[in-house]
Amino acid sequence: MEKKLCDMFYIMKPNQNITIVGAGVVGLSIAYELSKVFDGEINLLEKNEKISDDNQSTRNSGVIHAGIYYDQRIMPKKAAFCVTGNRLLYEFCATYKVAHKRVGKFVVATSPDEIDYLADTLRIARENNVPDVRMVDTGFVKKYEPNINCIAALYCPSSGVIDPVGYLKKLHGLVKQNHAAIYTKSHVIDILPQKQGFKVTVQSGDHLETFDTDIIINCAGLNSDIIATLVNPENPYEIIPMKGEAVKFLRTQNPDLFTSGMNIYPTPHGVYPEKGGKANLLFAEFEKLYLKGLIKKTLGVHLTPLVQKDQTAQVTLSDEISIGPAMSADCGKQSYAHTFDKNYYVQRVRSFFPHISEAHLDFYQTGILAMAKGQPDFVIEKDPNHENFINLIGIDSPGLTSSLAIGKYVCEIVKTIYQ
Ligand SMILES: Cc1cc2nc3c(=O)[nH]c(=O)nc-3n(C[C@H](O)[C@H](O)[C@H](O)COP(=O)(O)OP(=O)(O)OC[C@H]3O[C@@H](n4cnc5c(N)ncnc54)[C@H](O)[C@@H]3O)c2cc1C
Repeated sequence: MEKKLCDMFYIMKPNQNITIVGAGVVGLSIAYELSKVFDGEINLLEKNEKISDDNQSTRNSGVIHAGIYYDQRIMPKKAAFCVTGNRLLYEFCATYKVAHKRVGKFVVATSPDEIDYLADTLRIARENNVPDVRMVDTGFVKKYEPNINCIAALYCPSSGVIDPVGYLKKLHGLVKQNHAAIYTKSHVIDILPQKQGFKVTVQSGDHLETFDTDIIINCAGLNSDIIATLVNPENPYEIIPMKGEAVKFLRTQNPDLFTSGMNIYPTPHGVYPEKGGKANLLFAEFEKLYLKGLIKKTLGVHLTPLVQKDQTAQVTLSDEISIGPAMSADCGKQSYAHTFDKNYYVQRVRSFFPHISEAHLDFYQTGILAMAKGQPDFVIEKDPNHENFINLIGIDSPGLTSSLAIGKYVCEIVKTIYQ
């Protein structure tokens, strides 16, 4: 790709180099944005053998979130990046033919206690400028999704689904095309700050290699806390791996299970951060605890269709609908085994999807979220002692949706380093 000298955003540093640790959608989005404007060297280091091997970016729900859950008082970055990222991701998918569909979403309330939670979700959506979200009644829901039960719902047309691996591979191709170098099987095991820049040690099999770099961008997902600590032993952030498991069913196997393929979510509710489990609180009590950081909000176990490309490369909704995620902490960073039984999922969704039973379900996938302990928002900042070291820590959901917006934001941070 040709970089234009007249581009006002162009960063002319031909002798400089930037190293990005981690080639998930976030590292790749940053490399993609930087490769359009930076004329130095960009090196992306990935410990996995293949870009499509296990990480958060290959094992997620594939929902293009609209931005209705992220309260600006608590999660300003998630609020901003999700809404911008949603728009950028649809544009990207349309331009580069990544399988996706703007299926829309219902967030459904099934009991009167949930109405205040739903109203608060609408408030957040409006404050975040999410387009066209509105409260609808049961009749409206039934027109689109006759098998869904509720007493009221939020309708959110800008929510969608994407093939996350297809997106990752497309980013990978573009980054390579723009002459950024991507090294797989390259595990960063040490970083030594120098007078200027850093000495990075990479392990590839039995082979160790050390090289110098001017700027490091830490996008190491579940290991982002370890990478941050290599540079600054005082790094305050810790990653808590959180497993999210899912099952799936065929929407065409039985008329009672048919869905048109919208994202169907329960009303968000509180969970206790330490002991877990649903907090059955009236909204006013929940909000008090939530604003003090004493309770977390969860989106709940939901129905999400899978997208696929057929033989003619047309994007269609698959007949398969996933149900998840069933969340659990203390899972470690590597363990992808299923731990919840099928009845767990039936119990979670039967208030709004009453005809589902264990016999309809197959196990689908598990993924592990990189949550930062005590940090509800994305952490994206320079290390306080090393201004040319940028940390991205706790890039959990909606990181897939936000990735392109994060890429542009980090580009701006890099410019401040070179100013
Ligand atoms: C179950 C689940 C469901 C989700 N659902 C959604 C959703 O529906 N919508 C949404 O928007 N988001 C969703 N997310 C969140 C989204 O997937 C993540 O926010 C996003 O993929 C994060 O991308 P990343 O590049 O930061 O991290 P990752 O994809 O984890 O990539 C980090 C990379 O760093 C590499 N790495 C680590 N350590 C080193 C090292 N020392 N040296 C070199 N490389 C290293 C890893 O191998 C990995 O490839 C979900 C996540 C999960 C787990």
